[in-house]
Amino acid sequence: MTKILNNIGIIDIKTKVNEDMELLSVLDIYFEKKRGYIVKMPEKGSSVVACLSGGQDSVTNIGILMEEFGLHVYPFFISRGQSNYKYEKASADFFDEFYKKRYPKLYNDYLEINVPTPGTEYKDLLREAKKKVDSILLRHNISYPARNPIIFLTGMEYGYSLMAKDVKINTIFASHLSSDSSYHCSQTWTRLMNLLMCQILNDYSWQFISIPIETAFGNYYDKDVFIKWAYDHDIPIHKARTCVKKFDLECGDCPTCWDRRRGYKEAGVKDPTQYKFPMSEKYPTYYDHEKEEKAEQS
Ligand SMILES: [Zn+2]
Repeated sequence: MTKILNNIGIIDIKTKVNEDMELLSVLDIYFEKKRGYIVKMPEKGSSVVACLSGGQDSVTNIGILMEEFGLHVYPFFISRGQSNYKYEKASADFFDEFYKKRYPKLYNDYLEINVPTPGTEYKDLLREAKKKVDSILLRHNISYPARNPIIFLTGMEYGYSLMAKDVKINTIFASHLSSDSSYHCSQTWTRLMNLLMCQILNDYSWQFISIPIETAFGNYYDKDVFIKWAYDHDIPIHKARTCVKKFDLECGDCPTCWDRRRGYKEAGVKDPTQYKFPMSEKYPTYYDHEKEEKAEQS
């Protein structure tokens, strides 16, 4: 069986450039002191909020929350101005139906929330700014810096709002993995965001958790574990959308597609996805703007 907790994968957190072990340790100590634990899985039967992006990781994560932990899940989908919106939305709709049938007592319809991020008024400027600093070491790991904080603060606010329907929620789940390289996908960021959530709600029972990288659960693993778990449980995650391009098929050759293909290889699971292009031998990078622009036009 695929282990969801106490599973250390092959990537060592200490080698990750987007993690700050000193800061994480300070935050862990603070939570321990403040509430007696760092984070813990909510009790079976509790209600939680989870992001449904339409990608394989968020889809698998929601399955795990229901199947392994018996949680009532309230997913949210952010319409943020993504270029592959219609494919991500189609994936969210597909799994909405799938989970509703399989877990009718635990799954709730997802809520689509319209929060453009980055702001459309400066998105082009931000792209240009990113190109200017691409050659500077680690600048790439900044991504769209406010995007994930905005997405997950919105999810938290949605969870909080459900109190109006007498649904008590104090845990929100992301599904970041050990190979995610942005600062706003890290375990350090997750803990920092958790602190922010607690402070602005004046409620230290609030938790923000990404199970695959949750060090308090003895975890730090990657896509292969999620792919294997989904395969074990007959969840057709190959129908989820990974590619950030506008093609109807997954391109197979952008960094996110490359990661997806690597995940299947490492999981030892045959990848049923149909791709538009063959897999590069080398990891494709976001720096190759010319190639990216040509691919967008084709
Ligand atoms: Zn792609």
